[in-house]
Amino acid sequence: MTQPTDLGSTPEIARRGLMLVLSSPSGAGKSTIARNLLEFDPSFSLSVSVTTRKRRTSEIDGVHYRFVDKAEFDLMRAGEGLLEWAEVHGNFYGTPKAPAEKAMREGRDMLFDIDYQGALQLQEKAGDDVVSIFILPPSMQELKTRLLRRAEDSAETIAIRLTNAKVEIERWRDYDYVVVNDDLDRAFQAVRAIIAAERLRRERRPGLEAFTAALLAQEVE
Ligand code: 5GP
Repeated sequence: MTQPTDLGSTPEIARRGLMLVLSSPSGAGKSTIARNLLEFDPSFSLSVSVTTRKRRTSEIDGVHYRFVDKAEFDLMRAGEGLLEWAEVHGNFYGTPKAPAEKAMREGRDMLFDIDYQGALQLQEKAGDDVVSIFILPPSMQELKTRLLRRAEDSAETIAIRLTNAKVEIERWRDYDYVVVNDDLDRAFQAVRAIIAAERLRRERRPGLEAFTAALLAQEVE
């Protein structure tokens, strides 16, 4: 059976890169969906954010985040090195500008695991290239269960994240698509279907001009 992502990747027709924004409250499953996407769809690379948050034991510096102190973060921000930045759950997070701009120039897709404040800033700056998806948990109880299961954060951190989840969920209208993650597999397939359709959008495929011109020039007996 043809996988949904195959539909959108006709390599002979040049297209612009996608800036795919995935947001959700902590624990809604966004990170797993992002990880699966990076594994199954090699045309995506992850935008590695800088953060002043402490590294979790499972995280690798430079892979999941670049962990910096507040002084370095402020320097990057002041030097216009960040495409967007925000304070989330009491820590600072930002998207380095250079890798994202390079990916777009080269027509490569990039995945941004950022919050609603960052999503809004990207939409303002990069409008047409941005596709945003908001992942919702099926219930608040399930969200809490998932946060507890992760067991990487303190009880205090989990409490902050649960309170903040409501503020984040209220922002669902700022997104192009909303996916409820009641089943990880189904949610992942929904995200892939969105990507496949967005890759086929006419305005994202400058190569169609040449392709259709060549089609129209063909003589058929
Ligand atoms: P966590 O600390 O759980 O890794 O991430 C907390 C929140 O910060 C998540 O909602 C995540 O999407 C968001 N986040 C991570 N990196 C960035 C970033 O570069 N910019 C913004 N605006 N949010 C980010």
